[in-house]
Parts: sequence; C-alpha cells; structure tokens
Amino acid sequence: MKREIYVGRVGIGGNHPVSIQSMTTTDTRDYSSTLAQIKRLYIAGCEIVRVAVPDQESVISLKTIVSESPLPIIADIHFNPDLALKSIKAGIDGIRINPGNISSISKLSKIIKTASQHNIPIRIGVNSGSIEKKYQKSGKTRAEMMVDSVMDKIKFFEDSGFCNIKISLKSSDVKETIKAYRMIDNLCDYPLHLGITEAGTIFSGTIKSSIGIGSLLADGIGNTIRVSLTDDPVKEIRVAEEILKVLGLKEKGIEIISCPTCARVSVDLINIVKKFEERLSKIKTDKNIKIAIMGCEVNGPGEAKDADIGIAFSKSKAYIFKKGKLIDKLNPENSLEKLINMVIES
Ligand code: SF4
Repeated sequence: MKREIYVGRVGIGGNHPVSIQSMTTTDTRDYSSTLAQIKRLYIAGCEIVRVAVPDQESVISLKTIVSESPLPIIADIHFNPDLALKSIKAGIDGIRINPGNISSISKLSKIIKTASQHNIPIRIGVNSGSIEKKYQKSGKTRAEMMVDSVMDKIKFFEDSGFCNIKISLKSSDVKETIKAYRMIDNLCDYPLHLGITEAGTIFSGTIKSSIGIGSLLADGIGNTIRVSLTDDPVKEIRVAEEILKVLGLKEKGIEIISCPTCARVSVDLINIVKKFEERLSKIKTDKNIKIAIMGCEVNGPGEAKDADIGIAFSKSKAYIFKKGKLIDKLNPENSLEKLINMVIES
C-alpha cells in the first residue's frame, strides 16, 4: 500500500479511492474565467484541479482562485522557484514541480522547506521530454532514465526530511509510460499520479489514456489520474470517470449499452444515443443504472431485457423494458422523453 497524502480534503494513497484530476486551460491571470472553468470541472466530477502559474500576475490571481474554488488547487510551476514560493504562500493545496528544470539546489530546498511549513504535498513530476543530460548519457532506456531521475529526486527530498510527496513519470509514449510506472511502483511507496502526457485529441487521447492509465490501474498501480486531452478539460473528467468505472474503481452510475447497428436497424440510432447521452450528462444520480438502447426488434429485446431500463426499436414502435419486463410500446419520437423520465424516477 502507498503512503497517504492529502491535497486539501482529498486523500491520495492509503485506502483512498483513485481520485480524478484535471488542469485548467484558461489564463490563470483571468481569475473569473479560471474559476468558471473550475466550477464546470467540479460539477463534472473532478476532485482536484491544477492551474499553471507562469508569472507574477498569475500568483496574484491565484489567491482569489484558491479562496473561491470548490476544488483543492495545485499550482504547476516550471523553472521559476520564486513563483513556487509565492504560490505556496497564496494558499494552494499542493504544488507540482519538475525538479529537473529548477537548477538551483538552494532554491529547491527553500521550496521544500516552505511546503513543509504550509503542510502541503509536492508532486515530483518527471517528463520524458525534460530528463536531465546526466541521465541521457547512461545508455539506458528512457523509461529507466525517468525512474533513475525521479529516484534521485526522491532521495534529495527524503534527505531534506520531506516525505509529503507523490510521483509522476509521464511520457507521450504509452508503453514507455507503463514500463516506467511499473518500475517505480516496485521501488517506492509514494502515491503515484498517472497520466499520458500530450495524449492528443479526444479520439487519440482517449485511446492512449485508456490503454496507458487503464493498464496500470488494472495492475493495481496508481492513486490519482489525469487524462490529458487537447480539448475542453470537462471531457477529460468524462474519460477519466469511464476508465475508473470500466475497471470497477468507481460506482458505475448510469451505464449506456447500445448496439453498433446493422442492416436491420430501423431508426437513426446513432443520433438517438447521442441525444440521450447529452440529456443524461445533465442528470446527477448516485444509483447504478444500466440502460440498453437497441436498434431493432430482432436482437434488441433480448439485450434490452438484461438492463435496468431497455428500449428496442422497430420501424413504428419503441418497446420499453424495465427490469426485463415489457412495460410500454410507444411512438419512437416520444421514447427519449420516456427514458429520461424513467432514469429520473429510478
Ligand atoms: Fe443490428 Fe438489431 Fe443487433 Fe442492432 S440490435 S446490431 S440493429 S441486429
């Protein structure tokens, strides 16, 4: 079991469930837009949010963000140790640094000391693209170099008496990321933050993250996750939640099963499912509800019967099932409303 740390009220490691993180895409200096995005992330199910702090003006804005955010805030700092110190003093709940790009040892020590005084954790985040030169000359694989680099950093933090840390080893190469995390998981008991960096658009990013993060979680590795997408960060939360649900690490909530359609389909099922999913995304429920949406009356009813709520279409009718029993036959146009009401009443 990994050590337990806290980012604000969210426990990571120990017996805590795997938590979901994201990162704002707004200009941190613009605190109203940043807070608006954080609130959308919170409603979507995000548990911890990271904001980039690239300059002094962002630090000033950070104070307002921290005081009004519904989520714990992690400041993401590169290169500038002074911004790290000022961000900690602004009241953040955690900090992410890449020690490889903070060259001054005395400044790094100061960050550690200040984080310790404010009792906040530090994520030591090593990225494959920023491995220091001394490791690059070793002739080892990049995954091994990332691990060597982070193990040296861990030693430095431990020697400084600071163990309130979590680790990330991110690469845009999925297999490399998996290898690196498997190695570090055996070498230390600090909680691990999983992610595939620069994963890409919703399509490729979802595939890469599902394989990379999903493989590790399936092996029992990882304590908090961030799916990176070149898109609205709210979509990162949806993908992260799905990964956790598929692996049984999160209550399933509403699960939609739909057929791929074939020549037998008699309605525009693809659009029906899209519209249904869109409407459902606005409904909050703690219950686990399995909903089947099937395109024809040949195979549809059988599948629909296995779900809590099911629907199978024919040309002129929508057959509605509840817990395996046919309860209604409707005009297909009215069926979406009926399903939504059934979910709300469940
Ligand atoms: Fe085809 Fe019907 Fe199966 Fe959908 S449920 S894939 S329409 S046979």
